[in-house]
Amino acid sequence: MGGTPGQGRQAGGTPRAALADLLAGNRRFVSGQPIHGHDVTAAAAASGDQQPYAVVLGCIDSRVPLEAIFDQTFGAICVIRTGGHVLDRAVCGSIEYVVGQLGVPLVMVLGHERCGAVGAAVDALRTGERPGGSLAYLVDEIAPAVTEIGFDDPAVHPLAIRRHVRRTVRTLRDDDLLAGPVAAGRVAVTGGLYDLATGEVALLDPG
Ligand SMILES: [Zn+2]
Repeated sequence: MGGTPGQGRQAGGTPRAALADLLAGNRRFVSGQPIHGHDVTAAAAASGDQQPYAVVLGCIDSRVPLEAIFDQTFGAICVIRTGGHVLDRAVCGSIEYVVGQLGVPLVMVLGHERCGAVGAAVDALRTGERPGGSLAYLVDEIAPAVTEIGFDDPAVHPLAIRRHVRRTVRTLRDDDLLAGPVAAGRVAVTGGLYDLATGEVALLDPG
């Protein structure tokens, strides 16, 4: 299985151990043998302090519940979800807090297939009709990934999903308070993709 559950969970754990833990949890989820997945009792919630070893930034999509797909228990991971995992100052500040104050060594940005937020950005660029309200912010933040692929490309949706994950990873690696720890190797920011059909998380750039 690679990675004993909880291995990366001590303070000062390495990014590599944290990633191994997270992916081992996803394998338990995929294989239908979660060890935490069904324990959502109040007793489990009250069982200890938080010692998170990873922060996962994902989409609001109701089919991608992050603690479940990584088979994580209470106190194990910090989760942030926005449409299309779009960043704003609150999201970046939250990640800075988790990394700087809680000593978390791993930030994972998780995109997923058939993402509606990325689809909205593709539609907006194709039709030239920008949505109103704050939805425009989401679309504007995703649009560069779509433009880089080309909105006329028949495969723009799946390709832009991947590009947008990589762009989000790059932005976080360059973040004012994260760049130092990342350069020192104390913190890793990595991108993943969730397959809605199989439940599997694949690293976009493993290694
Ligand atoms: Zn989505």
